[in-house]
Amino acid sequence: MTTERVYLDWNATTPLRPEARAAMVAALELAGNPSSIHAEGRAARGLVEQARAAVAGAVGVTARDVVFTSGGTEAITLALTPGLRVGSQPVERLLVSAVEHAAVLSGGRFAPAQIEVVEVTREGVLDLEHLRRLLAGGRPALLSLMLANNETGAMQPVAEAAEIVHAAGGVVHVDAIQALGKVPFRTKELGADLVSLSAHKIGGPKGVGALVLGADAQGLEPVLRGGGQELGRRAGTENVAGIAGFGAAVAATMPTIVADMARVENLRNRLEANVRQTNDSVIFCESVARLPNTTLFAVPGLRAETAVIGFDLAGVAVSSGSACSSGKVQPSHVLRAMGCGPELAQSAIRISLGWSSSETDIEACLKAWKKLAGNLTKRDHETVPERF
Ligand code: PLP
Repeated sequence: MTTERVYLDWNATTPLRPEARAAMVAALELAGNPSSIHAEGRAARGLVEQARAAVAGAVGVTARDVVFTSGGTEAITLALTPGLRVGSQPVERLLVSAVEHAAVLSGGRFAPAQIEVVEVTREGVLDLEHLRRLLAGGRPALLSLMLANNETGAMQPVAEAAEIVHAAGGVVHVDAIQALGKVPFRTKELGADLVSLSAHKIGGPKGVGALVLGADAQGLEPVLRGGGQELGRRAGTENVAGIAGFGAAVAATMPTIVADMARVENLRNRLEANVRQTNDSVIFCESVARLPNTTLFAVPGLRAETAVIGFDLAGVAVSSGSACSSGKVQPSHVLRAMGCGPELAQSAIRISLGWSSSETDIEACLKAWKKLAGNLTKRDHETVPERF
């Protein structure tokens, strides 16, 4: 029996890149506070600014436009500020797509009554017509839209949506947390006024993120007040080691992103070719642009919890939808928003790959999958008539 584990849950979190680990260990050796003016302080400041330049370069902004936070959730909360404005009018409404991460769906600092949900198509892509209807004649809005969905991998029409929102005098926040390191993008080309990022989805440490300012956004209320760190936009002594790890992970990822993701996409496609051979299997969002590393699929009659345990016993780590919701019994809100019924949604299995995923990993995964799919009895299929 092999004891080697195969990790295929990269959208939940990624293994730490060796470069990030080395940068963090070096940073932990430094005594200085980045706000101190002595040599020790300047050394710590140097690491923070080096990381800021790396993150800024990766998304096409200048370093002063990057605000480090304690993770993606804090970056999103900072972005979702009522009263924010890029032009003259402060936003009073928050529009979110139905497939956003819980951090966005919860609305940040907006009151529940100020939040409106924009529908998605059956393929999990923002319905631009519904967005237009919600904006027509209404007060200026902040749209929060993800670049890529964490469960299905579906890419969202961010640039088109941004054009519509800007024409209506609004502001656009893009949750690019799953896209960073998987698909190259530039903040300006997306039309994003604000972009949230998270280190642990790209080989950096957990608990570090950044809010990127793509435009001269006014009225951004700090979540944390105190010292004037991060140009007054986020108080508190910087997490120097975490930030250095984030910068190193970004610097290690970006130069080979295209080649790495082409290789990963081939592996993902090989997995899907095998899943398709199982009767009645459904691969979600396969007809739209998706992240190259992600597949979400279901076979009626095979419950995701059972499958995840089966994979785990075979040494393979996969997920039943998003990590945040996998402890709950409810089917994924993303699949529900796409019109998928609860039976099929409860069978959804997510496999997500990363830069070090190998042919051997895929072989182990397929071996486990064939056993699970082979155990499906004819009766299992008959008991679940629903098709998506
Ligand atoms: N947004 C998306 C799309 C995510 O996948 C995640 C992480 O699961 C988050 C936001 C939250 O980021 P963090 O875990 O850094 O708070």
